[in-house]
Order: sequence, then structure tokens, then C-alpha cells
Amino acid sequence: MFRAAMLACHHKFIIKFTFPDPMPTQPDTTAIRYRIEPSTPEAHLFSIECTIPQPSPDGETFALPAWIPGSYLIRDFARHIESFFAHTDNAKHSVTVEKLNKDTWQVKTSKTARTLTVRYNVYANDLSVRGAHLDTTHGFFNGSSVFLRVIGREDSPCKLEIAPPKSENCRNWRVATSLPVAPSTQPLNFGHYTASDYNDLIDHPVEMGEFDLFEFKAGGIDHRFALTGRHHADLPRLKRDLKKICAWQTTFWGKPLPTKNYTFLTTALGDGYGGLEHRASTALICRRDDLPKRGDKNISKQYLQFLGLASHEYFHTWLVKRIKPAEFIDLDLQHENPTELLWLFEGFTSYYDDLSLLRCGLIDVETYLSCLGKTLGRALTTPGRLQQSVAAASFDAWIKLYKPDENTTNTSVSYYAKGALVALALDLHIRESSAGKHSLDDLMRRLWQEHGITGKGVHEADVHRLAEALAGKSLAKFFHQALHETKDLPIRKLLAKFGIKLTFPESDAPSLGIELSPANGLNEAKIAVVQNGGAAQLAGISAHDVLLAINGLRVTPSNLDSLLATYAVGDKIALHVFRRDELMRFSVQLQATAPTTCLLSLASQPATSVKKRHNAWLRNN
Ligand code: ZN
Repeated sequence: MFRAAMLACHHKFIIKFTFPDPMPTQPDTTAIRYRIEPSTPEAHLFSIECTIPQPSPDGETFALPAWIPGSYLIRDFARHIESFFAHTDNAKHSVTVEKLNKDTWQVKTSKTARTLTVRYNVYANDLSVRGAHLDTTHGFFNGSSVFLRVIGREDSPCKLEIAPPKSENCRNWRVATSLPVAPSTQPLNFGHYTASDYNDLIDHPVEMGEFDLFEFKAGGIDHRFALTGRHHADLPRLKRDLKKICAWQTTFWGKPLPTKNYTFLTTALGDGYGGLEHRASTALICRRDDLPKRGDKNISKQYLQFLGLASHEYFHTWLVKRIKPAEFIDLDLQHENPTELLWLFEGFTSYYDDLSLLRCGLIDVETYLSCLGKTLGRALTTPGRLQQSVAAASFDAWIKLYKPDENTTNTSVSYYAKGALVALALDLHIRESSAGKHSLDDLMRRLWQEHGITGKGVHEADVHRLAEALAGKSLAKFFHQALHETKDLPIRKLLAKFGIKLTFPESDAPSLGIELSPANGLNEAKIAVVQNGGAAQLAGISAHDVLLAINGLRVTPSNLDSLLATYAVGDKIALHVFRRDELMRFSVQLQATAPTTCLLSLASQPATSVKKRHNAWLRNN
């Protein structure tokens, strides 16, 4: 493990927090007090208390969110709550607790009390960016996994005490979070933190442990990067590169700044990948090999992916955390909260995550085109793109993208990939129609001014209106096709006008039209996906079948391609499979391999007008 010299650094600023209470002299009478303690790391248990002042004699109702904003799946975090009980400030009061449904408790007191406290434990053994995790090496939690909402008091200010672990082994633990620290507590220490209301409280994940830390200022924002887990990363380089991304993005969006400080909470593991956006921070999980190693000069593919992830989550600080779909203005945390607009909030963010790396000078145009080609490949070759529009994919994220199965690629399109394709097409349309005067960048900045700063939710019609004003013409047909239909967008033609050639690499190899499950210890060739209309499906072969032999020769995950390569498109082969425990034989006619990727390259000798457009789009740093 590499420990940077910055370990000794202390945070330089103390944030003065002001309650939005109209009577700031009496904040204690309304504030809800929370206390969390990593009480039993060995058993993955956090102990939590929530105390409310002047509880209603009719009872108070507490609920834990069923999902975490940014990750659109009902996760039922309440299933990890244990040992729930309640008491008042007077031991003589009797208190009754009734569970109303899977994540809601009602607490009634026999007499009027001054305070009501509920106590419970949360089992935290989910090492992801979405939940909570605690063991003897570190603790991490999202408020949505641990803090109960007091129904009807969501707007009350919150005070949070983060208590230190008692174990001697954890004595060097510190705390990293973007939650404002109370004046009585030193930054990065256990102690007291504040939040303006419940939604604020649960939008600042907290990391505790012996993480490495560096800080930097970029674009007027104070940044902190906490890195948990064993690693051999070149932290000074990481700091330099992130600083460029953050500086470029804050300049891109313009004033006012969305936040005064921002925290990256990163966990490095042997394997893992993910990120979740918050209003002043992000939680990231990466492979330790994704981080730059000391001595590396180039940007490896893995590091490029990590920078893209960090860039993506940082971009969300504006787009989705502040510029929000109308449906997200008043979130329902107990039920699904669908919107048709994830193509904008995730797709456009996906377009800008890699573009930011180019624009801030971290990668060159060729590298950028290979990143963009990968994204477009997913949007232009997935069979499900012809079945589901990107607006429908957004709306159904809860039951489709977040619940993938063997049929997903046949019937669904990713609102990340297709949304990025829509962003690209819209960017090029605006640039072309306005003769280079405007671009998608202007649209993003107008969204920030009109919806981000004001907190006014975005409807699809707002995007149409702003885009048409910039393009100087109606884009109704474009938006209808791009968002609500399934026909491919004419992106090849559009890219050609900007000096980029789009091709789908062809292959002579015959195909079964299947994808295998990731290699397992059994070395068996188990089918994960059977493509619609592919050779295997036409012959009756199903997902979950295990391939055994082609024309009598054993199939393994590693030799399938070479076995198939001995045949030609149109050949018939005998395929033996196990379906469950039954041996079956199929006759399969091999088909041509459908492209699964696309390549973007620079057009040779483009016309002057094309060159001009190309340069304005990709080389105008
Ligand atoms: Zn995202």
C-alpha cells in the first residue's frame, strides 16, 4: 500500500452552516438528532438513534427509503434493520411500536413527552456504492440505508453525531464526507455534522477508516479525494488529472458554482466497478489496477475507464443533482419514481464524461473517437434497440435495466448508450443548423440557468424548446424519432459532415448467435443470451443450455470460436447440449456474424467546410 505524504494534510476550511429555520435562535426545538456508531464492526452492525423533539401525542411514523436516488431499483434497505425499539425522555412512559408495512414503523407514547428516541441496528455488509458496509477495515454508509425519515418532519434540520468505533484496532479511523461539519468538530474527525433537511442528510455518503487523502482546488471548489483499500496508485498523478477534469467542467457550466466543496469517496478492490452521484460528493468503486501506477506515463485502458467514471459522476453534480426531471423534484422514496428522461440525465452525462477528458486535454482526438465508438457500438448494434425506444427504456429502468435477464439485449436499449447517441446527434444538428454559432454546450448551460439554479423540474418539452432556439428550426421530427421511435438515427451521415467515418467491422466467421456466461470453475460453455433470429434460436436452442459438442467434438468456453472457424456461413452442424439434465441434439445452420462494435476514424482529405466543423467540435479546446 502506497501512502502519500498528503496524509498529514488537514482540511483548510470550516463550513459555517446556517439552518434554513426562520428562527435560528431556537434550532434545537425543531432539529431531528441522529446518532450513528460503528458499534460492532465484526458483525457488520451500525447502531443508530433518531431523536425527535416534542413528539405528537397521536404518534410518529418512521420510514426507511426503499431505494437510493441515482440507482433505480427497489432495494428494500429496511430488510437490514434489526432490534428496533423506542423510548421517551421519561422512563415511566409506555411506548408502543407497530410495524405498518415493510419499511414503516409507527411509535405511540402513553403521555406527552419532550423527546422520542428510536434505536435500531443496521446490518451493513453490502460493499457497493448503493448501500452500507462495515467491517474491521472500514465503514461506509449512504444515509438512505441507515437513517429513518420522520414522516411529516422531512423539512426539519438534522443534526448528526458520527461516533467513533470503540475497538482499539480502529483508533486511527477518520471520517470523510461532504456533510457540513459542526463548529465543535474538526473536519475529518468523528463528531457532529449538520444537514438542512432529511433529503440533504441522505445525500452525503460517509466513509470511515484509514483512507488515504489528497485535496485540491479547481474552478473555485475545494475538492477532497479519499481512497480506501489496498492500492499502489500514483496519487499525485491522480490529483493532477482529476483537477483538470473538475476545472474544465466547472468552467463549462459557468456561474454560480453548484457547491463550495466536493468529495470523491473511492474504494479500490481486486475487482469491482461503479459510481453513484450525490449533491456534493460521489461514491466510486474501482479495481485497484484501474488507478494509475507510479511510473506510468500513458493512460491505460483501465485508467481511462476510471477517469471516465469520475468525470461522469462529477458531471451529475449539475445534471440530475440540480437540473432534475420534473418527476424528481418531490421524490417518493418508498416506491418507484419513474421518468422518461433518463436519456437526458444519464445519456447526455455519458456523452460528456469522455468528451470532458478530450476537452480538458487528458486524451487526444483518436483516443476520444475510440471511446465514442464503443458507446455508439452499444447503441447501434444491440438487437433490443429495434424493440424499445429510449424514452420507454428510461421509464422502465426499474424493471428492465436494473433487472437484466437473458432476454434483455433482445428487447431493451440502454438509455446510457442510446442517450449518448442522441446527445451526439443533437450536438451535431445544432452545430450544423446554427453554422457553428451554437452547440449542445449552450443547451446544457441554458438548462443550468433555467432549471438548475431555479430548481424548476425539466420536461421533455423544455429540451425541445431550448434546442430549437439554438438550432433556429423545428426539431420535432428529430426528437420524435430519437426518443420515441426505434429506427436507427442517421448518425453515419451526420458524422461525415464533421469529418468522421463510421464503420462496422465485418467478420467472415460464422456465428451461432449466442453469448456465453462468464467463465466458471466448471469450464462449461453455458449460454447466457440467445439472440433473436440467430442460428441457435432458429434451431430451438435456449439460454441456460450447456453446449457439449459440435459435430462430435467437445465445446469449451475457450475453444468455441476456433471450432466454429472451421466452418462457413450456411454450413449445418450437429450440436449436442444439456438442457437441465437432459441431453439434446440440434441441427443448426450457421449464420454470418452480426457486428457488435463500430469504429470511428478521421475522414481523409475532408472539404474545408467539413474541416472547420470538425475542428470546432473536437479541437477547439
Ligand atoms: Zn450516471
